[in-house]
Amino acid sequence: MKRLERKRARRCILLAAASVLSLMSAFISGDISSLWFAGSFGVCVVCAILAGSERMSELRCPYCGKGMAPVRWKPGRQQVRCPGCSQLLLYDDEEPAEK
Ligand SMILES: [Zn+2]
Repeated sequence: MKRLERKRARRCILLAAASVLSLMSAFISGDISSLWFAGSFGVCVVCAILAGSERMSELRCPYCGKGMAPVRWKPGRQQVRCPGCSQLLLYDDEEPAEK
């Protein structure tokens, strides 16, 4: 059975979180003309692009490549099937629940 890599999902979550945090710090500074705003906003965009590309390229269904696996930090109780080929989507630290 093919598996997805948990570390990829975690990196995706971290990048998305970093993107949101840098966007928040940009708006907390409040001054659109400041270098801080430009820098924070740039970091936000870069992190968002990296998180998105990680999601699109590394967390697809390993069988058909159409469906996308849910991004989860820890093994979830509910296991998800690919909408494209209905194979079970599992991370490398999960085991199939059904017999
Ligand atoms: Zn599939």
